[in-house]
Amino acid sequence: MTAIPAARPDIVSLRSYKAGDQVPDTVRLNANEAPVSADTPALNRYPDVHPVRLRERLATLLEVPGQNLLVTRGSSEAIDVLIRAWCRAYTNTIVTTPPTFDMYRVYAEIQGVEITPVPLDDRRDFALDKDALLARCDATTSVVFICSPNNPTGSQVPRDDILDIVESLSGRTLVVVDEAYVEFSSAESLAAVVNEHNNLVVLRTLSKAHALAGARCGAAIACEDIIDVMSKVLPPYSFPTPVIESVMAALTDERVARASQAVAAIVAERGRLYERLQQQATIEKVWPSEANFLFAKFRNLTALRQYLLERRILIRDFSSQPGLDNCARITVGTTEENDALLDALEGYGETD
Ligand code: PMP
Repeated sequence: MTAIPAARPDIVSLRSYKAGDQVPDTVRLNANEAPVSADTPALNRYPDVHPVRLRERLATLLEVPGQNLLVTRGSSEAIDVLIRAWCRAYTNTIVTTPPTFDMYRVYAEIQGVEITPVPLDDRRDFALDKDALLARCDATTSVVFICSPNNPTGSQVPRDDILDIVESLSGRTLVVVDEAYVEFSSAESLAAVVNEHNNLVVLRTLSKAHALAGARCGAAIACEDIIDVMSKVLPPYSFPTPVIESVMAALTDERVARASQAVAAIVAERGRLYERLQQQATIEKVWPSEANFLFAKFRNLTALRQYLLERRILIRDFSSQPGLDNCARITVGTTEENDALLDALEGYGETD
C-alpha cells in the first residue's frame, strides 16, 4: 500500500512517553504506585499503558485484526486525536458535511483548524454531493469527516460514494467515516476494507448499539500506519481499570447477542414512530432514518418543546443551525417512552 496522508511532522517524530514495564508476578518498584490497596478490585496499580485485552475483544467484536484498531475514550476522542495529529494549526483545514455531528467543529476550533462546510441537500433527504465535496478539497485539506448514518438527519451516504471519495483523496487526505450508528442501518461497516486504503479511518462506538455510553469506549479502525500515528497522541493509562473491567464484562457473547436484539427492537420502533409522527398535525415533515433517532420539522417547535418539557419529555432542538428552522431530533426510546411522546403530541392541539 502507498504512503498514508502526511501527518504533522512533529507528531510523526515525537518520542513517546516511556512508561514503567508492566510484568506479571514481579515486585513492582518502578512506577511510584502505592504498594497496598484498600479497594477491590485493587486500584493501587496503574491500568495497562494501552488496554490490550480490551483492544483484542473489540477487534473480535468488530471483525478486524487487533493491529488495525485503537481503543479510545468514546469515538469522540478519536475525532480529537485525528485532528490533532493531522492538522497543523492555522494551516490545515477539514471538510465537514453539515448538518452533522458538532464535535468535528469543536475539536477543529480548539486546534485552530478552519472548517470547509459542504452542506447536505435537505431537498434530497440530506444527500451528500460527492463531486461538490471533492471540488472543495484542496492542498490544505487534511481530514474529511463523513458521518453515515448522519447525526442528526439519519441519512446515509452510499458505500460507493464514500469509496469514490476515499480513492480520489488517496495518499493526500484522511477520510474519516463516522459509523457511530451503523448497527441500526442497512449498510455494512467499512471497517472490513481499511487495509485496502491508505487514507480510510472508520470510527465505531459502544455508546449506542451496545448501550455503554457511560463507559466512554470507542474505536478507530484504520491501516496500521495510521493507527501508529494516532497512538502517539493518546495519553498512556487513559483507560481506567474499572472501565476496562466493566466493558469486558459487558461484552460477553450473551450480552452482545442481547444487544443485537435490542437494536432490532429499536429499528422496529423507529418504523412505527416514523409512521405515527407523520400523522401528527404539529409535524410538517419526518425524514427517513437509518439510525436510532428520527429528524423532523415541526410547525412551532419552541412552543411544542415547552409543552413537552411540562410533560417531562425532552427532544433535541436544532433550529439554531442554518436551514434547520423548527427542526428537532427525536431519539427512539422504549415502546412506553415513544407512546408517551405520541400521546403528548396527539393531545397538543387540544390544549394549544
Ligand atoms: N459520532 C457521532 C455521529 C455521534 O452522534 C456521537 C455521539 N452522539 C459520537 C460520535 C460520539 O460518541 P461517543 O464519544 O460516545 O463514542
